[in-house]
Amino acid sequence: MTDTVSRPRAGAGPQPGPGRQDPAAGQAALICAPMRIEAAAIRRRLPDSVTVLRTGYGTARAGQAAEDISRRPFGQLIVMGVGAGLTAELAPGDLVVGSDGCPSAAMLAAELRRAGLRARAGRIAAVHHLIRRAERARLAAAGFLAADMESAPLAAAAGDRPVAVIRAISDTPRRPLAGIVSGGLAALAALRAAAPVAQRWAAACGSRQLLLAGPRSFCAGVERAIEIVERVLARQGAPVYVRKQIVHNTRVVGDLERRGAVFVDELDQVPDGATVVFSAHGVSPAVRAEASRRGLAVIDATCPLVSKVHAEARRFAADGYTVALIGHGGHEEVEGTLGEAPDSTVLVQTAADVAALRPRDPDRVAYLMQTTLSVDEAAEVAAALRDRFPAVRAPGSDDICYATTNRQAAVRAVAAASDLVLVAGSANSSNSVRLVETCERAGTPAHLIDGPDDIELGWLAGASVIGLTAGASAPPAVVAEIIAALSGLGPLSVSERVTTTESIRFGLPKEVRH
Ligand code: SF4
Repeated sequence: MTDTVSRPRAGAGPQPGPGRQDPAAGQAALICAPMRIEAAAIRRRLPDSVTVLRTGYGTARAGQAAEDISRRPFGQLIVMGVGAGLTAELAPGDLVVGSDGCPSAAMLAAELRRAGLRARAGRIAAVHHLIRRAERARLAAAGFLAADMESAPLAAAAGDRPVAVIRAISDTPRRPLAGIVSGGLAALAALRAAAPVAQRWAAACGSRQLLLAGPRSFCAGVERAIEIVERVLARQGAPVYVRKQIVHNTRVVGDLERRGAVFVDELDQVPDGATVVFSAHGVSPAVRAEASRRGLAVIDATCPLVSKVHAEARRFAADGYTVALIGHGGHEEVEGTLGEAPDSTVLVQTAADVAALRPRDPDRVAYLMQTTLSVDEAAEVAAALRDRFPAVRAPGSDDICYATTNRQAAVRAVAAASDLVLVAGSANSSNSVRLVETCERAGTPAHLIDGPDDIELGWLAGASVIGLTAGASAPPAVVAEIIAALSGLGPLSVSERVTTTESIRFGLPKEVRH
């Protein structure tokens, strides 16, 4: 049984770029709801142009409706309705986005949460009758979050088109069928609120190209720092204290925390006599002295390219130079470098800071750079220094490291051909933020994301070519997850633009070498 609640909308969904083929192009989304009351709730928050189809209650009617649906033209299929919750963590009105067959489920659940709803992605079991207590427990133990009778046959009608299933929980193990009236009302309210989000998901669907920037993701310094913590964990067991985040990435830090690393802001949080790892961003001599005074065993994961800048600061200061450090105030690397020669080093962030600089001797000025700066921005400040102090000394070799430079060049090449660039990285990762700025300077919108859940569906509508890169501290696994999530929104053709290849590796400190 199928009731068409309104006319199909012409031309819905994303617009493919010129010359690209999209089999679902111009086809509207189709929303299916088994019961009239569910269809009416969904219908209330959608424009008249969106088709909401009542497909009938139960497995048999859903099967019949699926045959009708498979003959219809549509771009994306969304199945919405109420469902039974299987785990005690669920409450009436919670939403479960079916993850089986929908790689973009977690992304859709995150968008529902941003809309103020309680939503999670998980497996939805297909059942043939109202669910009973023992069956709830059995299905929950098998890894399912919710159950219903219609989603599986209806979703199968999508064929190879994008499909999403959203079930609003009406009853739970704590509030089984006795509470179904109040639970049902909560579920219908959640469905109503979820409808515009489902429409946004459909608008984000479409055939698209994904351009991967190469190189991207981990650099040699980050790989070394992570390996150091892993080796200390393997050798000494948990806890292993690490001063500051070992690298600026929430995924890496969370993973190491689960394995026993304890990240502290300062050394006074480390017990006397314990081992402490210094992060890849480096520390000032004052921190080293404090660790020695406390009798801590130090393992230094400072990137050798940061240590090189520290050595330059010491050398210039010893030769009587005023050192202008081009960098961002407050960043751990900058604080470490400033600490090498605090009386001789001045932070300059802009050309205006250069104009305000008052060196002891204008003929003895040198400059250094934070390793993760924007190449273009740092060049502007360096030019201002050369203009004001013609005798200024530059570092022996580029301070902005190979990984930063290579990732910026690679993303610039990708941004030129993309409607939108996604940059995997955390908000406190300097080199990742610089990748976003590089794209924006090239005129391409870009967004920093920790993972696929941070992708807002509104960014994707109309974006037929998406660039993807990852900062030097973002794991390759996150890139793979983003690709998988985007593949749930329609055909995805993935290619890579490699501007250079990297083979740099750094040796491990002697404490963990063997
Ligand atoms: S971004 Fe550069 S300086 Fe920072 S850890 Fe990686 S290689 Fe070292």
